[in-house]
Parts: sequence; C-alpha cells; structure tokens
Amino acid sequence: MPKDFLKGARDSYDVVVIGSGLAGLTAANTLAKQGYSVLLLEHHYQLGGMATWFKRAGGHIFDISLHGFPVGMIKSCRRYWTKEIADSIVPLRQIRYDNPMFSLATTFTREDFTRQLIEQFRVPAETVQNFFDTARGMNFYDDQTTTVGQLFERFFPGREDVIRFLMEPITYANGSTLEDPAISYGIVFSNFMSKGVYTFEGGTDRLIGLMKADLERNGVDLRIRSGVEQIHVERGRVQGVTVNGRRINATAVISNANIKQTILKLVGREKFKRDFIDQTEAVRLNNSSTQVYLALRPGAHLDESNGDLLFSSTAPLFRTQALLSRDITSRTYSFYYPRTRPGSDRSLIVSSTNANYHDWADLPEDEYQASKQDLIETTLDAISKYVPDIRDKLDHVEASTPRTFQHYTWHPSGASFGTKFEGLAVSRALPEQIPGLYHAGSVGIIMSGWLGAMNYGVIVANDVDAFLLKQSAGAPQPAVAP
Ligand SMILES: Cc1cc2nc3c(=O)[nH]c(=O)nc-3n(C[C@H](O)[C@H](O)[C@H](O)COP(=O)(O)OP(=O)(O)OC[C@H]3O[C@@H](n4cnc5c(N)ncnc54)[C@H](O)[C@@H]3O)c2cc1C
Repeated sequence: MPKDFLKGARDSYDVVVIGSGLAGLTAANTLAKQGYSVLLLEHHYQLGGMATWFKRAGGHIFDISLHGFPVGMIKSCRRYWTKEIADSIVPLRQIRYDNPMFSLATTFTREDFTRQLIEQFRVPAETVQNFFDTARGMNFYDDQTTTVGQLFERFFPGREDVIRFLMEPITYANGSTLEDPAISYGIVFSNFMSKGVYTFEGGTDRLIGLMKADLERNGVDLRIRSGVEQIHVERGRVQGVTVNGRRINATAVISNANIKQTILKLVGREKFKRDFIDQTEAVRLNNSSTQVYLALRPGAHLDESNGDLLFSSTAPLFRTQALLSRDITSRTYSFYYPRTRPGSDRSLIVSSTNANYHDWADLPEDEYQASKQDLIETTLDAISKYVPDIRDKLDHVEASTPRTFQHYTWHPSGASFGTKFEGLAVSRALPEQIPGLYHAGSVGIIMSGWLGAMNYGVIVANDVDAFLLKQSAGAPQPAVAP
C-alpha cells in the first residue's frame, strides 16, 4: 500500500499553506506563532521550493539558489525566524566581473560602486551621487512608466559599459530587463548594491533544517509529498483544498504556488470575474535557468582569488536576449569554498545562466540529453579560463535545465523568479475576488528572491491574521465574484 503522507492530519485547520518556498514557510511560521492551526502542504520530498539543494555520491552537496542575497535577510531572519539563522548570515568577500568591456572586483557596496564609477568608468562624482540618490529614493507608488533603460539614459547617456556594470548582476539575478519599470530596478538596486551581498553559512540544507525545526516548535503540521489538486471555493468564499485525494477544510488558504497556476488551475477560471482572468492571463512569467554543478575532488584546492561570485561574459555588449540565448555567452559562477560549509573539505562551483523554457521544453529525449551534455562541456571549457585544471580536479558534474525547475517546483515554464512585475497586482487582489484566499510567492522583482519571498510571506500572514480576527468577530464578508 502506498504511504499515506497525510496520516494523522486533521480534517480542518485555520490556515492551509500550499507550497514550502520561503514565502510559504515564513507565512506558515508567522501564523503558527500567532496561535493559529496551520497545515503546510508541499508536493516535493523536501521543503524549501527553489531554496533547495541536492546530494551526490562522495558527500557532495550542491546549492541551487544560494548565490547571494541582500543584507536585509539578517533582520528578517531574526524577526521572523531565529537568532541562530540570522547569525549564520555572512557577507560574500569578493564579487567579480569579467567581460570584453571590463574586468574588476567589487565588494558590492555603495562606496565601492561609487569609487569604481568615478575612478574606473570616469563618471563625474556628482552624477554618481545623483543616480544613487534617485535609485534609493524610488518607491512603489512612483511613476511606473519610466523604464530601466530610460533611467540609465538619463544619467549615463551612451555609456554601455556603465549600464553593464550596474545592470548585469540584476539581470543575472532575476531576469529583469532594460524594458522593465525603473522602480523595480531602483528597489532591487538599493537593496542589493548598497551594503554588499550575503550568503548562509552551512548551506541551504542547514537553513531549511533550522527552519523546519522552528516550524515544528511552533506547531505547524508539515507534510511533504502532498500535492494540492484543487482549492475549493463554495458559498462565496474559500473552504479548503483537496490534497492527495483527500479534502481538508480551512478558514483561509495561502497559495505559495505560482500565481497563474493558483488562479487558473487550482481554483479554476469559472470562480473569478472575467476581467480578473484576463488580467491573470496577461501576467508574463519570468525566465528560467540552466545550471551546471561541478564538485571538485575532496581536498582539491580552489583558488580564492576567483572571488565568491563571478559575472562572466564573452558578449561584446550587454543585451538581455544574449543572456537568455542557448548560444551561451554569459555565465555566473558561484564558487563555494570549504568555508561555505565549515568543517568540510569540499570546493564546488555552480554555473548559472538565464534560459528560455521553450528552447528546452520540446526537445526529443536524445536531443535533450545531448544538449545537456553540450551545456556541461561548453561550461567546462568556459570555466577553464578561471580554473585552468578544472577537468583534472573534477569529481562530479551534472546539469539542470528549465525542465528540471518545472519538475521540482511545478512552476509553469520553470520560471525561476515567478512572474514579471504585473503579477503583484493580481496576487494582492486575490482575496478581493475570493474571501479567505491569499497568494504569497515570487511575483515581480521586489517580491522574489530569498528576501523578497520571505518578506512577502510576512505581509500576507498579517493580512490573513486580520481576516481571521474578523471571522472570529463574526464580521460579514464581501460577496464573491460571480
Ligand atoms: C537557479 C536559481 C538561482 C537563484 N538564485 C538566487 C539567489 O542567488 N538569491 C536569491 O535571493 N534568490 C535566488 N533565486 C530565487 C529564489 O530562490 C526564489 O525567488 C525564492 O526561493 C522563491 O520562493 P517562493 O516562496 O516564491 O516559492 P518557490 O521557491 O517557488 O516554492 C514554491 C513551492 O510550492 C510548491 N508547490 C507548487 N504547487 C504546489 C501544489 N499544487 N501543491 C503543493 N506544493 C506545491 C513547490 O513544490 C515549491 O516548493 C534563484 C532561483 C533559481 C531558480
């Protein structure tokens, strides 16, 4: 008989959370700490969503999305998780760029960007200061018609090298483009490029292990291998879910699944107003990624002068389409030295490249496997510029593609960062359409990435708390859309 992953689960909870990405986990933890009964359902066999890892023979552990996050993670982890988690966040020591326009190392602080822009790129100090002040001063309610490209043109007309310096890491990090609203860049830029880039000492497996322990302490009922098939909307409001064929009721449901998937598949379009469905369908997914994972033999030395993060490109100019192309010219390397996992003697490298799902989705199996092998070989060739003896030191290598990300997270098209900016409005409007139904997860650039997802989980948990308080006070709920 197949194992019952819901054994012992109750028939009803205050809140059901669908998905264990960082937004789902943080929302669940916040609500459990407030005293609500919370059931968290994850289809995968491990928690974390994109914040994940995998192990391979020989004791190698690969991190998928632990490349860097802003300093704000320390505060959020201390507030919403534990001191132990917050205290394990450490700065990356060095971030490098290497492309046909320039090659340099930076600490990713405002001071260092200012120095480089003035000394290396010869931009007047006043322009740099004005640019930083403008980027920093942007907020969500600003004019959203100005694009990132227009913002750069205003401050650095004709300076493709400066644009590359300021934009390439952000594009690598979350797929944003010169056509996106300038506000999205402003916020990410001031979060990310002002006080350095940080990582989690001990790896993603340790982080998620500590989070799991905290969730359990706070009484969250955690279930893996529990894929939600349907969200039930009856009598004008959310009523619960069907998971692994079993119905479980809830006063509120938070979906951490992709917003389009939540509305169009898990609830069903007939439950929403027509214009809301149109709005949902118009939301663009973010791009996906390919990665190549390289483990060096135990004890093999990896030169730390490579830095922790290296943005490398052979493309003469910075172009978004070139970053997505299967004809790869740009790779971001994360170098994991033994200090990443104190006590370990392992060095690993993960090479990441943005990718289009459709370039991989429909390949016949033999072509797919051959393309993966080609990705591995070309990456090994490319990285030998920085680690000349890489092939001799290699113990394990494999690749993932947009199909891999889709398989493990159920994100349509394997989207690495959820949706583009317009997904946020749809996500926020969900409870107006269906009382009791919320979404927390990657939408737009601000509400994605480790910090964005975690903070969005808290925002939504607070909304749910307010909703549940109203419920218990017996306040009437607005009628659901026809
Ligand atoms: C290759 C790569 C590199 C990245 N690098 C970085 C980085 O360096 N720094 C950074 O800050 N961010 C990075 N990110 C992004 C970051 O990892 C994500 O933005 C963030 O982790 C997303 O969290 P989330 O809460 O939106 O949910 P997700 O991580 O998307 O998780 C959603 C969860 O819901 C589950 N689920 C979906 N549908 C169902 C269902 N029906 N039933 C049950 N469960 C379901 C999925 O299995 C998944 O576990 C990277 C992402 C990728 C792919």
